[in-house]
Amino acid sequence: MWTDAAIFIGFFGGMFVLRFIVATIVFFWILPEGDQCPLCNAHTLRVQSRIWNRCLPWLRTSWCFECDWHGLLRPIPALRAPAGESPVPTGSARVRR
Ligand SMILES: [Zn+2]
Repeated sequence: MWTDAAIFIGFFGGMFVLRFIVATIVFFWILPEGDQCPLCNAHTLRVQSRIWNRCLPWLRTSWCFECDWHGLLRPIPALRAPAGESPVPTGSARVRR
């Protein structure tokens, strides 16, 4: 009798916890990587957000000054421009391929 209850609670409790783990991984995976706006592909500025920076400090709270997009981005560690190049190019200097 108790083993059936333990199996039931263990199975559905495990499924409940597993759902949050999988959802966290999927939402982290679908976040755009880098510092570019997902709407207009312009470079974004890092802004401070008291709630997001406290809950998810490893994500980059970003704001796009061209289209006013706010959101979270995954930072990439090697996000540095090559020597001699401006880290934030202006609109006219950007080259699109
Ligand atoms: Zn934008």
